[in-house]
Amino acid sequence: MTDIAATPSRTCGDCTLCCKLMGVPELKKPSARWCASCDQGKGCTVYEERPPSCRNFQCFWLMDEAFPEEFRPDRIHALAAFNDAPDSCVLHVDPAHPKATRSPEVQALTDALLKTYARVFFVSGKESAMLTR
Ligand code: SF4
Ligand code: SF4
Repeated sequence: MTDIAATPSRTCGDCTLCCKLMGVPELKKPSARWCASCDQGKGCTVYEERPPSCRNFQCFWLMDEAFPEEFRPDRIHALAAFNDAPDSCVLHVDPAHPKATRSPEVQALTDALLKTYARVFFVSGKESAMLTR
């Protein structure tokens, strides 16, 4: 979705998963649906004009090199991101890959998030849950 403030050595590469999983209020784009402007696996076709929500978004994998390379969101069908509620974050899992919810990678990611945040809001399409330590 964006790499404007990414850590110098990490970029989105072929990943465009946030352009599906994240809602974009300015575009009235719901979560878990591909943005019409996304060239899947390549990038944003309106990059220079993309709205502030897209400009300001970075998933945790992009922000923090402590997350393993193989946990790039498009590879595990899930992304973690900041949440408005204090001491919490959001874990979005692609509803097109329901098995990803129980994958070792997503389980490991969930465990790592719960070491930092008291609550992890899990969202996958219409499914949601609040995970706690
Ligand atoms: S999910 Fe993360 S790595 Fe993938 S495109 Fe979005 S910001 Fe980049
Ligand atoms: S406008 Fe561009 S960056 Fe924003 S969701 Fe759509 S494709 Fe992704």
